[in-house]
Amino acid sequence: MSIKNNLLQILENLPKKVSLVAVSKTKSNSEIMEAYEAGQRIFGENKIQEMVRKWGELPKDIEWHMIGHVQTNKVKYMAEFVTLIHGVDSLKLLKEINKQALKHNRKINCLLQVHIAQEPSKFGLSEKELFELINDAVFETLQNVSIQGLMGMASFTDDKVRIQSEFSYLKSIYDKLKNNMPQLNVLSMGMSGDYKIAIEEGSTMVRIGSSIFGMRNYP
Ligand SMILES: *Cc1c(COP(=O)(O)O)cnc(C)c1O
Repeated sequence: MSIKNNLLQILENLPKKVSLVAVSKTKSNSEIMEAYEAGQRIFGENKIQEMVRKWGELPKDIEWHMIGHVQTNKVKYMAEFVTLIHGVDSLKLLKEINKQALKHNRKINCLLQVHIAQEPSKFGLSEKELFELINDAVFETLQNVSIQGLMGMASFTDDKVRIQSEFSYLKSIYDKLKNNMPQLNVLSMGMSGDYKIAIEEGSTMVRIGSSIFGMRNYP
């Protein structure tokens, strides 16, 4: 299967309200261009330096999403162009994004990452921390960030029931938060192995890498 065929097959089966982030981390410019030529414009990366390099080298109408964990001191490198930052999990990080966005006279779209997996290694806020963050007095003062919704990653497991319950939990938090913030419109959940379950549970944005580009080779 080619990248183009993989992509078109996924898009064909994606409900209209669900958008696709093609996760291109570790992939070459020519592989990305294959997806681009098939019509894909949203790409996701998890390392800021790699995303900055690709942004410089590839067509300017690509929308770059930062899907990985963000170190505060690296926000400045992507503030000029990033379309959506998925992994915001602290007020400190949000303040830095706000500060860097202001320098470029932009409003940067962000998702707050919630920890839903049972694995301890994954990043994200607990439900309690999420509501503490949005109720913090400082949060309201951040004029150059725009919270679009939530992001979460399910446990890496074959247990479909567990994955489903983790996604369903995230959707319930999203619905609760939407009571306070009716403008929310993005629920980023689902990857190659679990995006079909995520869509059933209410995902509006899936992040798919290996099912489009094939397995990743890490150097
Ligand atoms: C790598 C990555 C993905 C894509 O994973 P695949 O299993 O290759 O689809 C999605 N989300 C995040 C946060 C990632 O780091």
